[in-house]
Amino acid sequence: MFDMQHIAELTPDLLSLTPAEARARIAAWLAVRGEPPYRVRQILPRLWQRPVGSWEDATDLPAPLRRGLDDAFPLPRFELAAHQVSRDGTEKFLWALGDGEAIESVLIPEGRRRTLCISSQVGCALGCVFCATGRMGFRRNLSAGEIACQVRELLLRDASPQPTNVVFMGMGEPLLNWTAVDAALTILNQPDGLGIGARHITLSTVGIVPNLTLLAKRPEQFRLAVSLHAPTPEVRLALMPIEKKYALSEVLTALGQFRRRVTFEYVLIGGRNDMPELADRLADLAAPLGALVNLLPLHPGGAPDLARSSRAASAEFARRLKARGVTAVLRRSRGLDIAAACGQLRVELEPRRKVPAQEHARVE
Ligand code: SF4
Repeated sequence: MFDMQHIAELTPDLLSLTPAEARARIAAWLAVRGEPPYRVRQILPRLWQRPVGSWEDATDLPAPLRRGLDDAFPLPRFELAAHQVSRDGTEKFLWALGDGEAIESVLIPEGRRRTLCISSQVGCALGCVFCATGRMGFRRNLSAGEIACQVRELLLRDASPQPTNVVFMGMGEPLLNWTAVDAALTILNQPDGLGIGARHITLSTVGIVPNLTLLAKRPEQFRLAVSLHAPTPEVRLALMPIEKKYALSEVLTALGQFRRRVTFEYVLIGGRNDMPELADRLADLAAPLGALVNLLPLHPGGAPDLARSSRAASAEFARRLKARGVTAVLRRSRGLDIAAACGQLRVELEPRRKVPAQEHARVE
C-alpha cells in the first residue's frame, strides 16, 4: 500500500510516464487523499490532450486539489531561449531546460503538413563529420517528458501552429536513448497522449543495431528513416565513426525486420559521397529494400570544412538512382537563413549562453 510521500517519490514527473502509467499514478494518489476516482478523468487530459502550463490553470478542479497536484507532481516547463522564423516559414525554437542545458526543435510547414523536428539528446556522441550537433559532443539524454514536451510547449503557445507530424531528426541519436524514446513514442501516439498517428511519426537513426530490433518489435507503424549518407563501408567510415561499432552491412540486415517502407537520408557532400558510381552503389542497397531515398543538400552551418554538391552533381546523382528504379527525391534546404540544421542554433548561441563546463560523455 502506498502512502502519499511514497507515490510522489516514485515519480513526480507525470510527463515522463506513458498515459496508462500516469493514469495509474494519479489514481493511486487520489485514493490516498480520499478524492473521488472520477477526478482522474479531469486530471489526465491536462497532461497532453488539453494541456495546462501549471495546475493552477486547471480551473475545473477545486483549488485545494490543484495545490496538492502542484506539490506532488509539478509540471516542468521549458523557457524559450530563442525563436527564429525563416523567410520560408520554417520556425526554430531553442528551449532552455531546467538544468541550464538547451535543445532545439524545428517546425517546417509544407502545404497542410507541419512537421516538428524534435531532439532526443542534448548533443550527440556520434561525431558525424557533417553535423553541428556532432561537433558539440554528448551532454545528456532527454527524459521522455522532455522529448514529448517539445510538442506540448507548442500546444501551450497560442502563437505557434500545431504540428501534424513529428520526426526524431533534431539533436541526438534516438536509439541511444531508447528507454525514454520508447515511452515518448507512446505519449506522442496514444489517443490519451498527443494522439499523433504512428504513420505521422518518423524515427531517424544512424542504425544502432540492437535497438533497431526493439523498435521493429513495436506493433505501431512508426516510420523509419536511416541516416545513411554513404553506400560503402569506406565512405561511411570517413563520414560517420559509428561504422566502427555497427557496420553498414549489419544495419542493412537489421532493416529486414521492418515490415514497412524505409527511407534513406543521404546528405550530398561535394567530392566525398556524391560521385556517380556511389549513386549506383546506393541504388544496389535501396532497390532490394524498396527504400525511398531523400537526397539532402549539405547545410552550410553543419560543417564549415565540407562543401555542398553542385547542382549538376546532385541532379546526376538523383538521375542515376531513378534510372535504376529507386524513388529518389532531391530536397531543398529549409530555414537556410535561420541556422536550421540540427544543432546549429544551439552551437551558434553557445558562446552567449552560460553552459556549465562538462566532460563529453560517450554512450555505448
Ligand atoms: S547526424 Fe545525428 S547521429 Fe550524427 S552526430 Fe549528428 S545528431 Fe549525432
